[in-house]
Amino acid sequence: MPSQPPATSVLVIGGGIAGLALSLSLSHHGIPSTVYEASPTPSTIGGAIHLPPSCLRALDHLGVLDRLRPRGAKIETMEIWSSPSRTRLGEFNFGKGTKTGGLRLRRREVHQTLLEAVREAGVQVQHGKKALEIAEVGEEMVVHFADGSEARGALVVGADGIHSTIRKGWVDPERRAEYTGVVGAYGYARIEPSRLHFCREGGGTAMNISRSGSLLTSFCSGDDKDEIYVAAVMGFPDIEKVSKEVNGWRVRGEDEEAVKREVDRRFGESRIETVREVVSRVEEWFLFPVFALGMEGTWWRGRAILVGDAAHAMPPQGQSVGICLDDVILLSRLLAKHSSSSASSSPSDSPSWTSADLSAAFSRYDTLRRPIVDKAHKKAIQQWENVKDISWLAFKFREWFVWLMLLTMGGMFDEGEGYDILKEEV
Ligand SMILES: Cc1cc2nc3c(=O)[nH]c(=O)nc-3n(C[C@H](O)[C@H](O)[C@H](O)COP(=O)(O)OP(=O)(O)OC[C@H]3O[C@@H](n4cnc5c(N)ncnc54)[C@H](O)[C@@H]3O)c2cc1C
Repeated sequence: MPSQPPATSVLVIGGGIAGLALSLSLSHHGIPSTVYEASPTPSTIGGAIHLPPSCLRALDHLGVLDRLRPRGAKIETMEIWSSPSRTRLGEFNFGKGTKTGGLRLRRREVHQTLLEAVREAGVQVQHGKKALEIAEVGEEMVVHFADGSEARGALVVGADGIHSTIRKGWVDPERRAEYTGVVGAYGYARIEPSRLHFCREGGGTAMNISRSGSLLTSFCSGDDKDEIYVAAVMGFPDIEKVSKEVNGWRVRGEDEEAVKREVDRRFGESRIETVREVVSRVEEWFLFPVFALGMEGTWWRGRAILVGDAAHAMPPQGQSVGICLDDVILLSRLLAKHSSSSASSSPSDSPSWTSADLSAAFSRYDTLRRPIVDKAHKKAIQQWENVKDISWLAFKFREWFVWLMLLTMGGMFDEGEGYDILKEEV
């Protein structure tokens, strides 16, 4: 039976990337925390995510980059191909010329690496703890879990993802995630790298665009160069007909056949031979409905604050993990600065916070984070409008537009490259 954390500690609800990274970052500042995760075991679901250089800088700051790097494929460019005309329209720079480049790897690798680091730092991670309700009692927060237990702490951080219980139950009950009308289907396929149409040196990504969605094909593993991550994004207005499962699921039986047919209908007639081949070789398909959260509303209330997707989930655009990490690095710096024991001379003192301390820390957090997150959010929403089905003429226009955009913008992808959260004045 895990011991109860001291009431001065931080209760982190959700053991995804944001929650684990927060606990790790807090431990660097000597702030005790406990992570409560709903799933009974560490989750293995999730595709392969792309981490741009700014995100790798944050992981380096957290001390886990050297462990992660060998687990993924170094990615420096994303080529854009027109699937119907078999034309290479250009490429986005995904970190070419930077110290680290970018990295694509399975989400579970990031998760597992953070979990190891968190445990080594002595932080308790409790699985099978689904938070149901929270309340403020005097100078404490109390969280009630589905198994009948409760935890008390000085503050609560809701890192419980897009459908956050902490947001809906306490911080901002009005704000709900909405389905974007788009689903993603992903899986893995094996193919000899020299047969691919895009960059073949064991690294690289191609986005193959068509009139009815886009198909991402990418290297994703450090040591297995034959494994390609395949992800299709497609307009799909009526998600209720497919499933009510909001977090994504592995499709089986008849549903699996239906997904294969749908992906094949959209990409199986591609004029790029390897696109057709990779699609046909995916063994297991997973589906996820894409939701987004409006940016209006609050991120904190009393002694509770939201971070990561719980605060500002946006459709995937390759920068979200970096945004989550910047959130938690900044929040831990602010909690260290505004704790009552930060002025004390004894390093063994556990920090504590008055309501005024937390209000100062959270307000500053909001002021610094909101303009940056707002900008990324707007861009992500715009990008996802582009994956819905369009006419032949509109597609021709898009091909031309992509080519022009890459030519005029130089195609730099990593918005966060010039921004370093560690340089923010807290
Ligand atoms: C298909 C897809 C592809 C993506 N690709 C990229 C990419 O290439 N690059 C990138 O940077 N980002 C990408 N993202 C976004 C990125 O994965 C997320 O922004 C990030 O994982 C959010 O982390 P989080 O910890 O805030 O939330 P989550 O990962 O959702 O973690 C929340 C955790 O809280 C737990 N939880 C939920 N409710 C409770 C509760 N009541 N009590 C206790 N625990 C609870 C959940 O079980 C979960 O473990 C992608 C997202 C998706 C869906």
